Amino acid sequence: MTPQTLTKKRGEFRTLTACRLCGGKDLKTFINFGDFPLAGAFLKPEQIPDEKFFPMGMQFCVSCTCVQVDTVIPLDVLFKNYFYFSSAIQTLRDHFGHFAEEMIARFVKPKESLVVEIGCNDGVFLRHLAAKGVRNVGVDPATNVVATIKDPGVIAINDGFSEKVARKIVAEHGKADAVVSSFSFAHIDDMHEVMRGVDAVLGEKGVFVFELYYLGVVIEEMQYDMMYHEHMSYYTLACLEKFLGQYGLEVFEVKKIALRSGTLRFYAQRKAAHPHPISPSVQAQRDEEKAKGLLDAKTYEGYGERVHKTKVELMKLLDQLKAQGKSIIGYGASGRATIIMNYCGIDKRYLDFVVDDAPAKHGFLTPGTHCEIKPWTYVEAMAKKPDYALVFAWPFIEEVKKRRADYLKNGGQFIVPLPAVKVFGA
Ligand SMILES: [Zn+2]
Repeated sequence: MTPQTLTKKRGEFRTLTACRLCGGKDLKTFINFGDFPLAGAFLKPEQIPDEKFFPMGMQFCVSCTCVQVDTVIPLDVLFKNYFYFSSAIQTLRDHFGHFAEEMIARFVKPKESLVVEIGCNDGVFLRHLAAKGVRNVGVDPATNVVATIKDPGVIAINDGFSEKVARKIVAEHGKADAVVSSFSFAHIDDMHEVMRGVDAVLGEKGVFVFELYYLGVVIEEMQYDMMYHEHMSYYTLACLEKFLGQYGLEVFEVKKIALRSGTLRFYAQRKAAHPHPISPSVQAQRDEEKAKGLLDAKTYEGYGERVHKTKVELMKLLDQLKAQGKSIIGYGASGRATIIMNYCGIDKRYLDFVVDDAPAKHGFLTPGTHCEIKPWTYVEAMAKKPDYALVFAWPFIEEVKKRRADYLKNGGQFIVPLPAVKVFGA
């Protein structure tokens, strides 16, 4: 099908001309997505005329190997609808419980130690420390999320983490034995402000432990659908070592976390104090990054080409199916769906609608592509089921196949868009 021409209204944004972490100017754009809506900007039909689009390109920094989105959108626009409560998800609750146990076993003591968390969300991590009597302070800019913290043992500051906030914590509670952060570093534009804060609050022998979704997995597993404006930066150990080094910190351990493929936990400390020996895991991670070409601009160039190829393959299949008169729906209206649909040009001409389990999304349209979001019960009530369902939640295809076994049994088929296009029947 020929591309649909849309008049896209651009929202406010700033273009990055240097690396956020090292200031390097040798930036190689390896995917240019064009003008995209925000990944989570689901909308009502009457909001279509006001829908905003923002340019989005992916840059690899040759000097430090970080990857960043080349545009920064004002934070009040970017996180206007931030309703992500970590405590609502069982696997996350378990994850933070285990993380807290490890911190207590290795680095902090009840009553004595102070732990500061950058991006404390609804207190899902800190409440475990509070239960064990560990003093703690959480900092988070999301007002509606912080407001839900009721645990008297958790002190929450509703603000972005900064040097100023860090100094306030030191004045009121003293220096921290541990600074912790989970999955927040992708969402922060001014990482230097964060590091000035860490430097101000962290005690001489303190540890700085943070978790993030690792760039290596995004590249290796073809997860280009994890790239969106809200995910501003993507990290390797190599770029983190350079970045933390600017603040006199060294990484002394790297751990792969079972939560989901792609989660890495980094442990850092002040190089001058060096309270913990460097674990062999650090060198192993360095070697792995080198072996996988993650430090090499050519790898990213090749990645951009492979991503483009998946689009060509997927659209070839969808065009064929539509030419045969088949009906297709989308499965899972996540941020991943927004990226794949906008990148490939999958809209109402291809998909009758998109199903999603979250009631809050029903009746809304997918950003930029305007397919209606419906519950699965709608499919169950249909006399003639859709011939195909394009699964945007493709990393969970095995779960989806089990859950919707009836649909497959009745002749329905699933299309998986990544890491390579594949069709599954019963
Ligand atoms: Zn850089």
